[in-house]
Amino acid sequence: MIRKFLHRVFSRTPTAPVSASRSSSTEVHVISRKQHGITRDHINPCALKVTSGLQEAGYSAFVVGGAARDLLLGLEPKDYDVATNATPEEVRAVFRRSRIIGRRFRLVHVMCGAETVEVSTFRGSTSVDDDDGVMDRTHADEHGRLLRDNVFGSQEEDAKRRDFTVNALFFDPVKEEIWDYLNGYDDIKAKRLRIIGDPLRRYREDPVRMLRAVRLAAKLDMQIDTDTAAPIGDLAHLLQNVPPSRLFDEMLKLLLSGYALACVVDLRTRGLHHGLLPMLDIILEQPLGERFISLALKKTDERVHQEKPVSPGFLFAALLWHEVLAAWNIRQTAGEKLMPALHQAMSDVLAVQNKKLAIPRRYDAIMQEIWTMQPRFIGRSGRRPFRLLEHPRFRAAYDFMLLRCESGEVDMELGKWWEAFQRASSDERAAMLLKDETQKKRRKSRGRHKPIADEPVNTDSSSADMVK
Ligand code: ATP
Ligand code: MG
Repeated sequence: MIRKFLHRVFSRTPTAPVSASRSSSTEVHVISRKQHGITRDHINPCALKVTSGLQEAGYSAFVVGGAARDLLLGLEPKDYDVATNATPEEVRAVFRRSRIIGRRFRLVHVMCGAETVEVSTFRGSTSVDDDDGVMDRTHADEHGRLLRDNVFGSQEEDAKRRDFTVNALFFDPVKEEIWDYLNGYDDIKAKRLRIIGDPLRRYREDPVRMLRAVRLAAKLDMQIDTDTAAPIGDLAHLLQNVPPSRLFDEMLKLLLSGYALACVVDLRTRGLHHGLLPMLDIILEQPLGERFISLALKKTDERVHQEKPVSPGFLFAALLWHEVLAAWNIRQTAGEKLMPALHQAMSDVLAVQNKKLAIPRRYDAIMQEIWTMQPRFIGRSGRRPFRLLEHPRFRAAYDFMLLRCESGEVDMELGKWWEAFQRASSDERAAMLLKDETQKKRRKSRGRHKPIADEPVNTDSSSADMVK
């Protein structure tokens, strides 16, 4: 083994960083522009500047990962990653406007105008199993999850440590060539999402890859290859060991992908939704909860496709609403007053979510505002509707209330009234106001299941700026 390691170190090109990982060599397929059709004009000028700058300085440099994949699929890449054999210090020396970031694995951000391209040195994977199949405890936890993957490697190793074959393609914009070590090009053409290496081992190393499979298949309109899909159901429990902040980041990507509804449906089919958002499984099994969440996801997807801004706070408020509702009803049944019961229900639900999914606290304010404003939509007499209309979060709370109407939780008449009230002139508004008597009757007839506000809720509008 030492001989193998020494051979590897000394057989490198002088600029190639040292790798500590082992892997057998695979033939690389170099695909010419004539075949793949991508020219350097397709890529963003900053990525072109970075790759050509590095190449002029004597290094190899490629556009890699999601950007190379999206170009081949005719999609516009969201961002550009560049991979190179230059070390971070060497990259830093080539570009004046650049800085080294990250401690565990150092990357370089190269800036051109307002744009930034992320440059990473080829990385080798830290093998979880050594040559005898014995788990390396210094790099993995007891479930096989990789704790470290921070060694430099060769280009081939860099390809192999990636998740899916379609994400392991390198595009050289100077020569206009695609370098393919793992048949990712064929998989792109066949619209097949295939994990690199042994699926079981790769999911154990990083269970988040299961979520990525679901998200990428929906986003790229690909089929998950049979062997890649097979272990997912059985390994779903491994997601419990993933640090909550990482789970949150991946869930947010999924929810804001523009394919959230398809992803959540697929997560459910594969049994992956358990534990992602606590009780999402239960909510999805309740007809009203399911309808509400489906509608919220559908509308979010539409906004993403229309390139309208999406507020994660609004989305989480929607995903958790039926949990809040259930907790609220239990507390009211136990004799608690309407608003204190709602506040308590909200903080109970948020406490669980903050811990489990690490929904950052910065979203709490918008979720709480949207929820606490809901009972205020019932108040349609006197100054109440005018005060509500002036609330800085009115629009979000109103959209949320419409979702409740559309899902059948609240009478559609309420949504229609508010829609008309917003459009009405001041005379018309005055005529639309309900008499206090009517309010009282309504309150009596609604009972505990659809609680209404009998007093204006004291929402703190100073926290309203904390959204997004
Ligand atoms: P998107 O277009 O949604 O950003 P992406 O594939 O670019 O998709 P990123 O999270 O930006 O996703 O990751 C960039 C690249 O890093 C991937 O294409 C893949 O090669 C690699 N990668 C990301 N996550 C993992 C992972 N969990 N395991 C192995 N490789 C990964
Ligand atoms: Mg990306």
